[in-house]
Amino acid sequence: MAGIKWVLASDIDGTLVGHGGENELASFLKGRLDVGVVYLTGRTRANAEALIRQYDFPAPLALATDIGADVFWGPDMQIDDAWAFQQRRDWAPRRIMRALEDMEGVSFQSRSSHWRLAFGVRDCAALTEVKTRLVHEQIACRTLWDDDARRLDIVPRGALKGRALKHILTRLNMRAQQCFVAGDAENDGDLLEGRYRGVLVANGSIFLRERLPATILRSPFEGALGVLDGLRQFLDEPSLLEREYAG
Ligand SMILES: [Mg+2]
Repeated sequence: MAGIKWVLASDIDGTLVGHGGENELASFLKGRLDVGVVYLTGRTRANAEALIRQYDFPAPLALATDIGADVFWGPDMQIDDAWAFQQRRDWAPRRIMRALEDMEGVSFQSRSSHWRLAFGVRDCAALTEVKTRLVHEQIACRTLWDDDARRLDIVPRGALKGRALKHILTRLNMRAQQCFVAGDAENDGDLLEGRYRGVLVANGSIFLRERLPATILRSPFEGALGVLDGLRQFLDEPSLLEREYAG
């Protein structure tokens, strides 16, 4: 923590990895020991750690997994018990299973972690019925719909990346102005809503692109290069774009 003045708080898939430029970003971060990295991902811990190592990204100041349901503190990846306790208070996976078990067009698929139930849902009508059923049963949770996969993920109500980041920055004693956020998809929406400066990478969601505040740069670069482009501007270094135009 000593010497860290800035925080890069970033999504992993589609933002840090998957669109090239990972090496450039990793080496930039290696040279900037005043920038600490917080990772916020839908992945599980083991999964996220493997990717961070694979691409040689800096060890996390903190890692928020399952869209912010769990927080782990670097460097030894201690779980944040107080945070998990908050999530657990109204997380009722067995009630969710019971509420949805007899529904037509709805099938349980998997439980990828303690905090996530996945259901296959046949069509929009069934999806509406599921949501109505959850409200009717007064089950507190968040639902995330993947239209391509026809999959509905159900996670704790408080599993939000922006909420986890706020908690992390408070514990790190960092101000919002010291933090730069990066994302690509709808589940990064609450990270990018304007509390922090940040970047939406070029491959990011069109829906977000139109909706986000002006404090969020729409980078012309995809993935890690987009993050690097935005971060350099944030840190007042010449942007990739200016360099390219310069020669
Ligand atoms: Mg993503």
